[in-house]
Amino acid sequence: MKALSYYRAPALMGTALDEPIRRLHEIYDRIEQSQDAWIKATPFRCPEGCGSCCEHFEPDILEVEAYFLAAWMFLHQRDRLSSMNYHSEQRGCILADPDNPYHCTVYEGRPLICRLFAYSGDRAKDGSVRFRPCKFMKGDYMQGGSKTYTEGELKELFGILPPVMSDLAGEAAILLPERSGDRYPLREILPVAIAKIQYVLDLAAFAEQAAKGGTDGDNDGDNDNDGAPQPKAS
Ligand code: SF4
Repeated sequence: MKALSYYRAPALMGTALDEPIRRLHEIYDRIEQSQDAWIKATPFRCPEGCGSCCEHFEPDILEVEAYFLAAWMFLHQRDRLSSMNYHSEQRGCILADPDNPYHCTVYEGRPLICRLFAYSGDRAKDGSVRFRPCKFMKGDYMQGGSKTYTEGELKELFGILPPVMSDLAGEAAILLPERSGDRYPLREILPVAIAKIQYVLDLAAFAEQAAKGGTDGDNDGDNDNDGAPQPKAS
């Protein structure tokens, strides 16, 4: 499991955003572990360099996923934040780079559905787990991409079940209960999340400056830290 510090900007710790982001990270870690086991035990693989899911699709995501992604970008791609083009007419996801063989430019910060796509199952009406390979996968078990494997078949053939998308999405949806699991287009919610994290970081920087005492913590040209400049003497 990766160290949690990889997204935990010190200034976010102890804020209202820290706990939901930390719990989402735990869900992401569980996905990674169960997919590692699934990939080891089964023959289903994305074709090398495929990226079709990012070229034709941009996910709707939960606010908490946007905070995770934004926090990751603050730590790893801060220089990029001011030049992001949320109105790009690029087909598919604005975070995909068609010229990059790995396609996703925010791989470690990517949303939940991106982690699960092609390597997760769903549930049949009776609650059992099913798996249908992505149509771009190849190999003996593909059967033209039309085969849906039942839970019984998966256990018999591979001795393992994939992580289930709806179960994990449901867990993530309640991390910010006041948002009722609402989802938003990535290009709409990401700038909102980035602005909120910037605000939290600015507050933390202000508090740190102010705690040092007597300095101009609010950067307003005086030393009273009240956020307002002193009126000029007439
Ligand atoms: S966030 Fe990354 S993985 Fe998800 S759709 Fe965009 S480019 Fe693809």
